[in-house]
Amino acid sequence: MKQQEPAQILEQILEEVRSTDPVNVRTWFSDLTALSFSGGHLDIGCPDQTKVDYLNDHCLSVFTKAAQKITGFLVSVSFHSTRPIAAESSAFTASLDGLRLHPDYTFDNFVVGPCNRLAHASCIAVSQNPGTVYNPLFLYGSVGLGKTHLLHAVCHASRENNGDLSIRFLSCEQFVNGFISAIEQGRLADFQNQHRSVDVLIIDDIQFLREREQSQEEFFHTFNALYNNRRQIILTADCPPAQLPSLEERLISRFKWGLVARLDPPSYETRIAIVKKKAGLRGIHLPEGVAEMIAEHVQSNIREIEGALTVLYATARTVGQPITPELTRQALGIQQTAAQRTITMADIIEAVSREFDIRITDLQSKKRSQSITLPRQICMYLGRQLTRHSLEEIGGHLGGRDHSTVLHACTKIEEIFKTDEQIRLRIENLTRQLTQKQ
Ligand code: ADP
Ligand code: MG
Repeated sequence: MKQQEPAQILEQILEEVRSTDPVNVRTWFSDLTALSFSGGHLDIGCPDQTKVDYLNDHCLSVFTKAAQKITGFLVSVSFHSTRPIAAESSAFTASLDGLRLHPDYTFDNFVVGPCNRLAHASCIAVSQNPGTVYNPLFLYGSVGLGKTHLLHAVCHASRENNGDLSIRFLSCEQFVNGFISAIEQGRLADFQNQHRSVDVLIIDDIQFLREREQSQEEFFHTFNALYNNRRQIILTADCPPAQLPSLEERLISRFKWGLVARLDPPSYETRIAIVKKKAGLRGIHLPEGVAEMIAEHVQSNIREIEGALTVLYATARTVGQPITPELTRQALGIQQTAAQRTITMADIIEAVSREFDIRITDLQSKKRSQSITLPRQICMYLGRQLTRHSLEEIGGHLGGRDHSTVLHACTKIEEIFKTDEQIRLRIENLTRQLTQKQ
């Protein structure tokens, strides 16, 4: 075989990876450089440690396979940071405690809309002035609305602003498990020291502290120690502090000392911007109208937008056609979008009233008996799924309920979906009736 230049090999590998693993391809792959190719080993350089971590976590095997295919040899591959060691903050990396920063989760890649403006602004403020402006910062919202993304963004930005800052970023489970094993191994003082000596402590999904009395106690003291030393604390949860059941009152009241910011589901316009942002990150070109279709199709959870993009991109490659609105409709199984747009709250309330044999006026009343509450929550859920009304508007059709009641109803119905097959079938049936009616 003719001796190939490392740079050429890398170029061909990237070409191959783009077709075999489009999900993990990023536009910044063009910054990768081939450092050397010798002794059956290819060294690939990348200017950023976070991206090297990403490559190791998501891309090692597909790059290796591609390298073997292209060279015809059992080549191995490794990724290296090409940034000078001194520029990487050792304090920062060492404190991440196994939780790796995702290179996509930066402020630049976060789309700001009315649904998340406060959360976003407060995260920026905190990353610029940790420990002084909002302490603690408490973010909450249901799953897939960008809480973890914002936490990673704070870490990225803090690292850029001040490389010496020590940040500890943990999931709540890591905190609890670390605490338990520290007790078992008689290393409690070490554990306490690790958490109480940092400049910024970030704990994701704090709702997992429920039912963990001893860990709560430990966290309470950690909180006080950090707070008294004006160190920054950032927490997230799936509900506001007051609704964290079985969390001690004294802990909850501390969460409210700083700023509590809610993340809401994004509006249609924000979703379009998110689709475009995610497509741009992967270098996928979406023609006119396609981002709108995806934004319309995926409503509740932003994580699903990425799933939809992946399916669309993979379908386009498989059938060897460019992405078009028609292909999008086929790939995502979107039917009757025109019809869906015209479903009204009145249609939904009428259908639910028939299905559950309840008067429309009861659905729109303040009554709280179980036989009415559930169908009313189903109306809210269907309103969210099938119309473009805002949460306030949906609540307005159902006896003037506020935005958080509607949100709560949607979460509740999604939970019921997991446990109650019968209700799920009834709701699916209602959805079918409503979407096929026109
Ligand atoms: P949560 O922690 O609230 O469950 P994540 O932070 O994991 O949600 O977000 C789920 C996905 O949605 C991630 O891929 C994230 O990048 C994306 N996402 C959420 N909100 C936004 C936004 N405003 N702009 C861009 N991407 C977003
Ligand atoms: Mg999360």
